[in-house]
Amino acid sequence: MSAADASMSAAIEYKTSIFVHCTKSFIFNDVTNRAFVGDEEDIALLARLADEPHTIQAIAAFPGIDELDERLEFFLREQLLVPATTDETLSFTPHRVDIETCRQCNARCLFCPQSVAPKSRGVMPMELFSLILSRLEGTTPEWVAFNHYGEPLVDPFFKQRVELLRERNFRLRSSRTAFLRKMR
Ligand code: SF4
Repeated sequence: MSAADASMSAAIEYKTSIFVHCTKSFIFNDVTNRAFVGDEEDIALLARLADEPHTIQAIAAFPGIDELDERLEFFLREQLLVPATTDETLSFTPHRVDIETCRQCNARCLFCPQSVAPKSRGVMPMELFSLILSRLEGTTPEWVAFNHYGEPLVDPFFKQRVELLRERNFRLRSSRTAFLRKMR
């Protein structure tokens, strides 16, 4: 690397990718679809760089972080950190897709929001469902699930939706209470 290249790359500021999200001990990258165990310092460092980008040199001077070089090398390799000027919207493809096709259910399982905080009932029109699938054209999600606030098997369009998924080579993921056949 020439001196000019080195000084240019030293000037690059890095930020935490907008597709990185963390729990207390896990780090997920939705772009690479990879998950890692992280410690408190990893999570705090990623949170800090999500708030404000810094150059590698500036990050290396952060006080009180053990094994900072190894952490940075790992963050860069796993695209947890990206140049602050990156337009990340262009790099994302959905890995899994959840669509709320039906917001009603016959059961009232105790743990489910359907029971404790019900919302207005509704069924997604087929036109909207088709539009969503057309927007997914060219992507290859692992699966499409009919999820969220309802039981998809009480949906009158369930069969049509499954056929559309099949036509477009999308795989349906389902774990439903199959005994539910009619809406209340
Ligand atoms: S949506 Fe599923 S979990 Fe919720 S009440 Fe209906 S059957 Fe139970």
